[in-house]
Order: sequence, then structure tokens, then C-alpha cells
Amino acid sequence: MNYNGFFKSALDDLRDQGNYRTFAELERHRGAFPRATSHGDTKSDVTIWCSNDYLGMGQHPKVLDAMHSALDRCGAGAGGTRNISGTTHDHVLLETELADLHCKEAALLFTSGYVSNLAALGTLASRIPDCVVLSDALNHSSMIEGIRHSKAERLIWKHNDLVDLETKLAALPLDRPKLIAFESVYSMDGDIAPIAQICDLADKYNAMTYLDEVHAVGLYGPRGGGIAEREGVMDRLTVIEGTLGKAFGVVGGYIAASAELCDFVRSFASGFIFTTALPPAVAAGAAASIDHLKNSQIERDLHQRKVANVRAQLDQLGIPHVPNPSHIIPVMVGDPLKCKYISDILLKEHGIYIQPINYPTVPKGTERLRITPSPVHSDEDIKHLVNALGALWTQCELARRPLAAQ
Ligand SMILES: *Cc1c(COP(=O)(O)O)cnc(C)c1O
Repeated sequence: MNYNGFFKSALDDLRDQGNYRTFAELERHRGAFPRATSHGDTKSDVTIWCSNDYLGMGQHPKVLDAMHSALDRCGAGAGGTRNISGTTHDHVLLETELADLHCKEAALLFTSGYVSNLAALGTLASRIPDCVVLSDALNHSSMIEGIRHSKAERLIWKHNDLVDLETKLAALPLDRPKLIAFESVYSMDGDIAPIAQICDLADKYNAMTYLDEVHAVGLYGPRGGGIAEREGVMDRLTVIEGTLGKAFGVVGGYIAASAELCDFVRSFASGFIFTTALPPAVAAGAAASIDHLKNSQIERDLHQRKVANVRAQLDQLGIPHVPNPSHIIPVMVGDPLKCKYISDILLKEHGIYIQPINYPTVPKGTERLRITPSPVHSDEDIKHLVNALGALWTQCELARRPLAAQ
């Protein structure tokens, strides 16, 4: 077989479909989110409008100070797996901080949110005898991989559909172990799961619940504990999973749960045991970020205000975006080539960076620009963004919504 020929033809197919991924090469500016330098054909300054560093905490002075001081105190890496010399004081402090954030007995760190889902779901579903996993149809790839890897029976319920979930639960023997896996804020449509009602069903049918709060931690709830905190239901969830890489601005993932469950995953999960621990400076930075957002509401309030402002201005131009109750603004293009083209022109001619979101991240025909305003985007940034989109909407002959009566 001509191996490289095979790779090339698969990539050519992707290109023909408009689904070939190109990365924007950026250099973020310390302390100046959302500004960055784009290293394209020529260097240029850009404003980032699609970051998951939702609050700009990746540039927050408290986070940077904590990382600098841990680096000066402990050096670069952890030096091993958690079992072999890699458990530092900073890891233990961070796990305590996370358990407290979610009002759980314990928390367990992983090298990323992806790894936490893969390892925790994989371990729970494979080790609990005869476990069946009930997985929301739009769950993130990392959850799907964890469930697949477990080889447990998997039932997929219609996205956020309580009737379908209950039908599937009711068809199972009451005493069979069950795990309901779902997310709070879904990252591509920005819709939110009915967490309390899912917990009601879990109680009724004797199931565990596993909630991915990756797109909500830091952003919702009086201490940034996520949607479950905002709705006062954290204690009803068996496992809350989150990331340190999005609103907390650093990197890493975790689960928070009972002491026994965390100890169980710690003891059996290959993806926890056999990999080097996060650098202590990363753990210290994440802990500083969590601590700050537990005690400060300013970022969350401003974040919601900026999101509302962007939506209102898009409405004034009739640019279609998905209405949802979260901070994620999906602007629908519905064509992979136009989506990529708009993104290219925004970057080249307007200094605006928004990555196009195409298949397979979203279904074909729903290609979109996923806009994530932050508390530190200025009113001028917003005006500039909306004007540029308006011009491109005309140029690409994309449909507008009828304007609301003035
Ligand atoms: C990004 C994401 C993850 C993975 O988190 P990382 O820390 O980036 O690995 C998990 N779940 C969902 C829903 C995500 O969007």
C-alpha cells in the first residue's frame, strides 16, 4: 500500500467538502486578553472572539502571579505520576479547592477535561458489574470515547428529552446498575439540560448521574460552581466533571464526587494512574483562578451583560443566531465553504478571529460561527465585530431575519 498516498487522498476528500481544518497561529498578549498577534502570511494584531477562556482568567494577574511564584518555588514539572513522586502540595490544595467548589467530599485531578471523561466514565462503566450507560445524544466526544472504551451497554437518549430518557430507564430492571451521562451547557448550541428533572428520574429508577459542567464552571452559580450550583442541585449529582482549561483559564480536568467514588477512580483508572501529574505551577494557577471566581461576581455579571449586548446588536442587523439561555452565541451560516470564507475574511481584513465550526463538530448544514464574548471585550470591539459580520452577510448573500418592528 502507498501509505502517504492514502493519507493524501483522505485529506483531499476533506478539503473538497470544505471540512479540512486549518489552525490560526496566534500569540496571546500577556495581561491583555482578548488581544493576540496572528502569525499568518503577515503578522497582524487580532481580537479573539471564539476563546473558551470565557472570562479572560488566563491573563488574570492573580493567576499569573500564582504560576510565577509556584514556578520559582518548585520548578517546572511534577516529576512523575501521582503515584511515583508526582503528588505535590499544590495538587492536594487544588483538589481540596475543587471538592469545596462543588460541595463534594473529594475531587480528583486529571491532565485535561477530555482525560477526566475518558478515564472516569471508562472506569465506572467498565468496573460496575452489568452497568448500562444512558448517554445524551449530543454528549461530547470525550464522554462518548469513555463510554465506548468501557464496553458497557450504551443507550443513547434524545438530546435533553426527559420522556425518551424515562422510557429507556423504565425498560431496564430497577436493580440493574445505571449511569446517566449528560452535560449542563452544550457547547455548540448553548442550550442547558434540565438537571433537576434528570436527577428526579435518576432517583426514581435508581441510577447514578454524571454531569459534565465544562462549559459552566466558573461562569454560573454564586461561587462559579456551574449550573448545578445555580440551581441548588449539586448534592443530587453523583459525579460533577469540569475543566481547568476553559473559564478557569489554565489547563487540566477533574471530577468531584464522594470520597469512595474518587478513591475508586484513583485506584482503577489507567488514564489517571499511568500519566505524569500536571506541573505544580499549573495546579497553583488553577487554584488561584477558582479561588478568585468563588469570591468575585464582577466577571460573571459583566460576562452576561456583554453577551446580551452582542445578541442585541446582531438582532438589529437581522443576523441569525441561536437563541439560548447561555453565554454561547452560535451565528448560523449553514454552508461549510461560506463559513470558512467568512472566518478567513474576518481575520484578514477585520482583525477578528472566529474559528469556523464545521462537520463533524456540528451536523452538516448547520455550519456556524461560535461567538464567545468575554467581560473584557470593549463596546468598540463589539461594534467592530457586528459591522464586519453585517458587511460579510451582504457579500455572501446570506439570509437575514426579518427585523423586529422598530
Ligand atoms: C472541551 C470539553 C471537554 C474537554 O475538556 P479539556 O479540558 O479541553 O480537555 C470535555 N467536555 C466538553 C463538553 C468540552 O467541551
